[in-house]
Amino acid sequence: MWHILGAGSLGTLWATRLARAGVPVQLILRDQQRLFSYQQAGGLTLIENGQAQRYAIAAHTADHAQPIQRLLLACKAYDAAAAVAQLAPRLTRGADIVLLQNGLGSQDEVARAAPLARCIFASSTEGAFRQADFEVVFAGRGHTWLGDPLDLQPPAWLADLRAAGIAHEWSLDILNRLWRKLALNCAINPLTVLHDCRNGGLSEHPVQVASLSGELVELLQRCGHSAAAANLHDEVMRVILATAANYSSMHQDVSQGRRTEIAYLLGYACNAAQRQHLQLPHINALHDQLQAHLDARGLPRH
Ligand code: NAP
Repeated sequence: MWHILGAGSLGTLWATRLARAGVPVQLILRDQQRLFSYQQAGGLTLIENGQAQRYAIAAHTADHAQPIQRLLLACKAYDAAAAVAQLAPRLTRGADIVLLQNGLGSQDEVARAAPLARCIFASSTEGAFRQADFEVVFAGRGHTWLGDPLDLQPPAWLADLRAAGIAHEWSLDILNRLWRKLALNCAINPLTVLHDCRNGGLSEHPVQVASLSGELVELLQRCGHSAAAANLHDEVMRVILATAANYSSMHQDVSQGRRTEIAYLLGYACNAAQRQHLQLPHINALHDQLQAHLDARGLPRH
């Protein structure tokens, strides 16, 4: 049984594909009110290639008694630790928790909240967004890397992902992947917010992008992730070109008045630099500017 916490974009993308493959799935929703709305909606709807399909997946709230052996944590990074703490009494000994959160920092918070569970980190390039409550559009095919820095043995349930058609790979180096993704995100997303532009708009700010990429390389190397630092600037430029027409996830969050995951992206990078006694003036200035920008819009600065 897969318990899936969070019926948002990624939670729906995973729950519906697993359920469609005949894998038992149980959703965990925030509270009775959300459960009621879900029941009114009649299930989760996935819109794929313009076709909508509804799946009446079983759901309950965190205070249900059913033990949890495998938990897919599909909430935002800032909600992850509290969500797991709430479920801790239900986790079986040696339960697996799959963490879909972007950035870094929430993985350690979750591991502290559930010290007896095995935490499996994921990094995904799949794209989805909520069109309405419990209705999600599968916007971009991609790939998900999963790994556990403490135990390199792949779990047997990867077979469920194969059955569900979830493109994935077991990674022996998941931390490098998460750091690389964090660095790409730090070099692109905050600037798109501050310049209020699509990713492609950063082609007009090559010096700023190059300075940030240079500092991120220093940070990755100092933190022991040299492999994640290789050719970073080239890849940043490639991503800017390849996704020129897209608004970054952080830009979308800010323009829609939603809380960002800044604390687990740029904030994490700044803290890591400080712990290493590394001076990164461009990254720190960017963080300050982004926080001021969020303050001015009444959005949380963490
Ligand atoms: P999302 O659409 O906002 O969904 C998050 C869901 O978590 C919401 O449905 C929310 O419930 C639920 N939630 C939060 N706390 C909860 C709790 N205590 N109990 C039950 N449910 C709870 O977020 P998302 O886009 O799927 O993103 C999830 C993570 O994946 C993020 O870290 C994101 O950066 C990462 N990611 C997303 C994508 C993407 O394309 N969307 C791609 C790659 C990575 P409510 O509905 O009640 O608020």
